[in-house]
Amino acid sequence: MKLGTLFNQKEVVLSIECFPPKEISSYEKMQSVLRNMKTLNPDFISVTYGAGGSSGGVASSDIASFLKNDLSVESVAHVVCMGSEKDDMEKIVQNLKDKKIENVLALRGDESPFRPLSKTFKHASDLVTFFKERGDFFISGACYPEGHPESATPKKDVEALVLKQNAGCDHFFTQLFFDNNIFYRFLNRARKVGLSRPISAGIMPIVRASQIERTIKLSSASMPSDFTKMISRFQNDEKSLFDAGIDYAVSQIRDLIESGVDGIHLYAMNNFEVAKRVINGISDLLK
Ligand code: FAD
Repeated sequence: MKLGTLFNQKEVVLSIECFPPKEISSYEKMQSVLRNMKTLNPDFISVTYGAGGSSGGVASSDIASFLKNDLSVESVAHVVCMGSEKDDMEKIVQNLKDKKIENVLALRGDESPFRPLSKTFKHASDLVTFFKERGDFFISGACYPEGHPESATPKKDVEALVLKQNAGCDHFFTQLFFDNNIFYRFLNRARKVGLSRPISAGIMPIVRASQIERTIKLSSASMPSDFTKMISRFQNDEKSLFDAGIDYAVSQIRDLIESGVDGIHLYAMNNFEVAKRVINGISDLLK
């Protein structure tokens, strides 16, 4: 099923992001995590592609296929421009078609030692066009409530999203954020310049002290004062930080749903307990 059907039918679409294990030997464990995730009834699960610049491990298309074809959970395969030229991308498209994957998150990716810049695909919008020309895919794109770090101004940032939409992008996922006001301001800016596709808000529950530095570094998300207060109060108390991190994410999501958000995308970091606690905390709003 294409995600468009879900966004047409549901008040709010709930999704979870997962990432492939780095070691092939961890795949069975991952499959069992995904079986557990299925019991939470997410509308779909997306699978990252070499996020953070990594390479190797289980292919994200294999996990997307396992979700869709073995578990009957709708899936989204992330695909990045970096490291691929036209012939490579033709193979990627064919592989996704062979696996009956209909939903793709088209991304530029970031340069890494494993992935040089692509000469063919400079922006995610080039990938969107490429996929749209080759099949009946539902294509999502990434967006950034605080602006992509390379965007000159917030206005230029949302204008580039409209280019992505004009190329055929059907839906957007946001980068994670901890301050809903930043998301609401972004939404205003984006709608004003003509971004009309549904947008899923990306929420990452921070439940371990070790997550904090890495997450902030990778996402450049700003931290509102109630968030920093929570971190400093509980950072040396593992159990309380876990509970407080879940509570923070739940209240962020409740506010977003009550404000009419199109979708919630949960960055649960392959952690079933985190996904379960958060989804239980919002279940009354999902009916
Ligand atoms: P683009 O849309 O190409 O944008 C990059 C920059 O170029 C922006 O500043 C934009 O404003 C500008 N721009 C875009 N189009 C144009 C244009 N036509 N003309 C001029 N300027 C333009 N990375 C991974 O490696 N693997 C993943 O699985 C992954 N998953 C992600 C999931 C989500 C929800 C998000 C938010 C990010 C994810 N990323 C992932 C990270 C992403 O690859 C990086 O943030 C990357 O720096 C930008 O990707 P993009 O698709 O937004 O790029």
